[in-house]
Amino acid sequence: MRYKLTMRIDIISVVPELLESPLAHSIVGRARKKGLVEIHVHNPRKYGIGPRHNVDDYSYGGDAGMVMMIEPVYKVIEELKAERDYDEIIYMSPDGEVLSQGIANELSMMQNIILLCGHYKGIDHRIREHLITREISIGDYVLSGGEIPAAVVTDAIVRLIPGAITDETSALSDCYQDNLLSAPVYTRPVEFNGWKVPDVLLSGNPVLIQKWQDEQALERTKRLRPHLLDK
Ligand code: SAH
Repeated sequence: MRYKLTMRIDIISVVPELLESPLAHSIVGRARKKGLVEIHVHNPRKYGIGPRHNVDDYSYGGDAGMVMMIEPVYKVIEELKAERDYDEIIYMSPDGEVLSQGIANELSMMQNIILLCGHYKGIDHRIREHLITREISIGDYVLSGGEIPAAVVTDAIVRLIPGAITDETSALSDCYQDNLLSAPVYTRPVEFNGWKVPDVLLSGNPVLIQKWQDEQALERTKRLRPHLLDK
């Protein structure tokens, strides 16, 4: 396996509370505890403007809604860049490239990345023009802030870091990893309410089981995500 230092993800957010739980539990929480990834959240409010440490202001042109100001975000990014090099400085944006397993795979190979969360009406466009290297969306709909999208991107990345998932092969057999959806999975009991687990899974024959799983994966992909088969 390729050697790499512990990956580091810095998330910039004016509502860091929104990120607490998703980054503290389950696979992401355990990966942090195991030292597989370092995740740090930074609030631009510490560089907020004026006595009230404002981070947003009215938009020029009079559109409704507040806009995140450049200076506090600029200062956080500069502070981070002074400490280390970043592979990407990513703005979470509804008009960015749409997140996919391929992008998650790519990002999981990186050493240091920044995820910038917008809030309110968005961020001063000069941040996007001059400081950001990439923009990622989690889908064609609008959320209230970039925190949930940043948590989604972080989760998608971290579960790919070797060791994050106890069963090493588990992430590889996930949907999308080879442009195929996953086969259905079952656990005990064998029968519930008269609903049975497919016989082949109880056969104990690994060749037959693999064949069934491959057929299921192909059938589900054809039916649910046919475009994956064009790739
Ligand atoms: N007025 C903006 C939306 C602002 S929503 C527009 O129409 O494009 C506030 C913030 O939420 C954005 O700055 C962005 O960081 C985040 N956000 C909203 N929807 C998102 C999505 N689908 N993917 C990623 N980030 C999103």
